[in-house]
Amino acid sequence: MYDKINPPASGAKITFTNGEPKVPDNPIVPFIRGDGTGIDIWPAAQKVIDAAVAQAYQGKREISWFKVYAGDEACEMYGTYQYLPEDTLKAIKEYGVAIKGPLTTPVGGGIRSLNVALRQINDLYSCVRPCRYYPGTPSPHKNPEKLDVIIYRENTEDIYLGIEWRQGSEIGDRLIAILNNELIPATPEHGKKQIPLDSGIGIKPISKTGSQRLVRRAMKHALRLPKAKQMVTLVHKGNIMKYTEGAFRDWGYELVTSEFRAECVTERESWILGNKENNSEISLAENARQIEPGYNSLTPEKQTQIQQEIAGVLDAIWSTHGDGQWKDKVMVNDRIADSIFQQIQTRPDEYSILATMNLNGDYLSDAAAAIVGGLGMGPGANIGDDCAIFEATHGTAPKHAGLDRINPGSVILSAVMMLEFMGWQEAADLIKQGLGQAVAQGQVTYDLARLMEPPVEPLKCSEFAEAIIQNF
Ligand code: NAP
Repeated sequence: MYDKINPPASGAKITFTNGEPKVPDNPIVPFIRGDGTGIDIWPAAQKVIDAAVAQAYQGKREISWFKVYAGDEACEMYGTYQYLPEDTLKAIKEYGVAIKGPLTTPVGGGIRSLNVALRQINDLYSCVRPCRYYPGTPSPHKNPEKLDVIIYRENTEDIYLGIEWRQGSEIGDRLIAILNNELIPATPEHGKKQIPLDSGIGIKPISKTGSQRLVRRAMKHALRLPKAKQMVTLVHKGNIMKYTEGAFRDWGYELVTSEFRAECVTERESWILGNKENNSEISLAENARQIEPGYNSLTPEKQTQIQQEIAGVLDAIWSTHGDGQWKDKVMVNDRIADSIFQQIQTRPDEYSILATMNLNGDYLSDAAAAIVGGLGMGPGANIGDDCAIFEATHGTAPKHAGLDRINPGSVILSAVMMLEFMGWQEAADLIKQGLGQAVAQGQVTYDLARLMEPPVEPLKCSEFAEAIIQNF
């Protein structure tokens, strides 16, 4: 079946039903070591994972690792420009759950980005990035422990689809001409707008299917969290981009209030219900005045529409959500993207799961990771309905490669996510505990050591892994 690799002799496949993994006690898990510092990080991470599984399950469970190749290592084995060999793609599809170190983005010839290609080929539509604080980690913030969010970033569309045309290209110019001469004039709401003739053009598709499957996964995750963290915030820039970013918000609300009706309440519904609970005699008009900013200056038609919305909410969910029952449901709200960047800094404890489109999620994940101590400690996963790849969120940091000094925390914490995804919570908890204690003791790699107050002597990458294991 494979050209240059062989799966381990023992072990069984992880399978998927309705997007959820079914995991045997001896799963085969493909891994990509990664380029650059992958050479240091992966052996350290593998040692920690194996030690945690061995200690948690005393031999009853074990991972059979299957080495597969991507990036520079793949080119050495498979030939020039073979960054992502067919063998690797087949193995990941076959075994369902994989883990990888960082990969160099090829420059010239070959694929645009290996990470993006892996996500698109396997339809890994949700990029999941938890950002929580490990005490002792140096942070630029006063209270980084208040931030404990999980970012669900849509992974397959938005401008990341990569459909764009260079300024001055034949097709780009044709497209601008069609837009300026035909399509924009045929859309009255665009008035006399025109695209400057010397523009590059990029397309930003946001689909209903793509938005809703992402929000569905975020909701399912919220339901597994402790009650106090059962919140999903839809992040968007819908005030500016109504039919892409605004539609993401609207489709998100549509999804949660249809598929998860019994389990969720929207923030707006909670205001309506709360007003009714505080004053059972409240009129529709007064309720509307209280939930809708600027209600008094709205047109009568708009005021009637809001009153009808309130009557509809009370009619549809009062019996299941009224009298405070809504407080036990998953709270779903939405925030404008620029506001959420402020709020994760000024009111971090008000948020839990942030569901975002691709580009907003890209920025937001790095901003949130910075608050809790930087990319060296930021794990990530790319999850679809029948495949999941867990990965470091940083790059290959080539200048540190082979020096046994880089922080392996990101891949190790990605492994924690992988073990949790597999349902191996005990092993995941051991790693979290070991890593948390090692950091709290000041046993850290150079990147964190240099920021600690007072500064501490840095550990090597491999020594940090040992320190984690010693703290199990
Ligand atoms: P980078 O590899 O993330 O490194 C930038 C800097 O971040 C490093 O010099 C280092 O800072 C710090 N850093 C990165 N990883 C760290 C770790 N594990 N522990 C501690 N500090 C760490 O970014 P880049 O230099 O822009 O990109 C290099 C290559 O990686 C490019 O080809 C890029 O496309 C690729 N990339 C891959 C991924 C991925 O595979 N997921 C993601 C991003 C980039 P100091 O030197 O200041 O300590």
